[in-house]
Order: sequence, then C-alpha cells, then structure tokens
Amino acid sequence: MTYALPIFDPAGESTPGESMPPRAPDDATRSNALFDAYGRVIRDLRLSVTDRCNYRCIYCMDPDHRYLPKQQLLSVDQYLTIARVCADLGVRKVRVTGGEPTLYPHLQTLLEGLGRLPFDDVAMTTNGSLLTADRAARWRAAGLHRITMSLDSLRADRVAAITRQSVDATTVTRAIAVAREAGFDPIKVNAVVMRSINDDELADFADFAREYEIDMRLIEWMPLDSGRTWDRERVVTADEMLAAIRARHDLVPLGRDDAHGTSLNFGFPGGSRGRLGIIASVTRPFCGACSRLRTTADGKVRPCLFSHEEWNLRPLLRRHADDDEITRFLVDAMWTKQAGHGIGDATFAPPARGMSAIGG
Ligand code: SAM
Ligand code: SF4
Repeated sequence: MTYALPIFDPAGESTPGESMPPRAPDDATRSNALFDAYGRVIRDLRLSVTDRCNYRCIYCMDPDHRYLPKQQLLSVDQYLTIARVCADLGVRKVRVTGGEPTLYPHLQTLLEGLGRLPFDDVAMTTNGSLLTADRAARWRAAGLHRITMSLDSLRADRVAAITRQSVDATTVTRAIAVAREAGFDPIKVNAVVMRSINDDELADFADFAREYEIDMRLIEWMPLDSGRTWDRERVVTADEMLAAIRARHDLVPLGRDDAHGTSLNFGFPGGSRGRLGIIASVTRPFCGACSRLRTTADGKVRPCLFSHEEWNLRPLLRRHADDDEITRFLVDAMWTKQAGHGIGDATFAPPARGMSAIGG
C-alpha cells in the first residue's frame, strides 16, 4: 500500500477563509447542540494539547516524525475556550490527550479550568511515564475524574522495543498504583495488539486485568501511524483476540458501557473487579454511534479520526472571536462529519496526520 506524503500548514497560519467549514443548513443551528448531517449528537470532546511525546510507539509515531512548529500550538486559554464553548453546546465528556499530555507545560492549569466547566466526565490518556504521586493528587484535586494508560506488553524487552525507549512494564504498574492511591477508579489500560508483536500475550493481558483489577482494553491497530507502515495482515481482529483469551479464561459478556461505548466489555467469573474491553475499530466499526469531536493541539477541528478535511479554528481563537462565531464554526464543522471511516473500502486512504498529531 502506498500513501501520499503528509502535508501540514508550513507557513504556520492558514490564510483567512481557508480551512473554514462550509455553511451547514439552518436546521443545524436550530438547537443549542452539536449534531451532524446523519443525526448523531456530539457529546464527547477529544482535546489534544500537544503533539510531542517521549515515546515513539511503533504503531503510532515514526522515529523521524516531525512535530508541529511551536508557534502553531494553542495557548491554555484557547484550549479552554474550545472546551467551554463545547460544554455550552451540550458536550458532556472531555478527554485530554496528545501526543503525551503529561509533557504539556500548562496541564495543571488546563485541568483546573476543565474542572470548573460543567462536564460529567474529565479524563486523560497517558503513557504513564511521568505520573508521580504528587501530580496524580493535584490532577485529581483539579477535577480529573479518570486516567487511561497505555501498556502494549507485559515483557520488559518488548515494552522497550514497542515504545523505542528504555522503559519497562513496571513503569505502568507503578503508575497504576500511584493513580489508585490518588483515588482514580476505574483505571483503564490500553494495548494496541499487533500480529507477531504482542498477540501471544492476549491471555496474559487478561491475567493482568484480573490481578490489578483494571479495565484492560485491547485495541485493533488502525491505519494512523505517522510512518505509514499499517498493514491489514498485522491487524489482530476482535474475533482472534477473543478466541485466544477464551483458551485460558471464561469471559462474562457485559456489553458496551453505553450506546456510544467503543469497547465490547467482558468480566471474569469469580468476583475479580478486573474487566476486558475489546475495541474493534477496524473489523466492527462503531461509527454509527460516534458522538466525538476532536481538536488538535494546533487548533484544527476534526469531525472524525479519519477525516481528510480539518477546519482551522485557530485564526478565530487568535483574534478573540466571540462565542457565537466559534459556535457557528463548530456547528458547521460537525455537519461535515463523515458517515464512517471506510477502512474496508477499496478507495480508503489514511488521513495526512497520524494518531499522535490528531490526539488518540
Ligand atoms: N501518549 C498517550 C498514550 O499513549 O496513552 C496518549 C496519546 S495516544 C495517541 C492515545 C491512544 O492511542 C493510546 O492508547 C495508543 O495506544 C492509541 N494509538 C496510537 N496509535 C494507534 C493506532 N495506530 N491504532 C490504534 N490505537 C492507537
Ligand atoms: Fe506517544 Fe502515545 Fe503515540 Fe506512544 S501511543 S508514541 S506514547 S502518543
């Protein structure tokens, strides 16, 4: 499979009018809510606050990956403006992500600001490497409700090979203990499962979930790595994952968390609080129930992970546009949300940005 080279906005600023979403029909503005042309209501904001990372996971970021120029990134006030206007438009959940969000210098201020907004759920996804007891306690006090961490192998040598860093599996087990001590519960841990990389550990991940009483989420690899190495043959499907785990464990189906939940959940008989979640984004897409809006660290609104179009909110934020104007921009942008990701289509092409620059 060959891909076009990624194209960013090298000048640092789109010209006015460029990258503005087309006007949505008047219908789209009839209520103070965000919804798309397919009737999906947007309740969930993924707010990326950095495209920087201290890892280079093989399924996510190429070793030669180039970061966005600093002058293109938003300020903490601008991230909070996005979150506030989204909250006014009925968005109820926000997840802070990146890149590695714990590298973001103003994370504490951001979380304090998010904690003052009327979200039901404030969550963050992190590789866990920079979690300390002090930071976890301060994030919790600021209003962070939940932490999801990433751990793609239980074997030290593999963690180092996958992240391309000299880290080991205990980084995350320590981080789980620290997060739990600070009061985060439940704790979710994500693993991207790749054939011949970590797919022989599937039943071990289930053991890990039981032992540490966490929600272990096993994710199908998506074509979002910046190195463009995604290969369908290396995607371990949900069916394959379940077969491998059931060879060792009885699983109790628990369904999805809610109508918009991405993971198919399973418990274990015998009372462990641990759970498994399978995120089958490739083989069992959940696009029809998607309630997400994504914004990148440089202020682009992405209606879908796989959008080829992204809408540049940064000029509005930089000239302190009023809430009505930002609202109209978001309404118009979300009206362009595509029906589905189309990974299975013959014409599928991945977006120009990889996962770390979009925000996972
Ligand atoms: N750096 C943080 C971390 O790794 O948890 C947050 C950002 S990361 C982009 C968010 C999540 O996306 C991680 O759980 C990671 O495993 C997942 N991810 C990254 N690239 C992926 C891909 N190509 N397919 C599926 N999941 C991916
Ligand atoms: Fe960094 Fe997270 Fe991507 Fe790994 S998955 S390279 S930790 S952003």
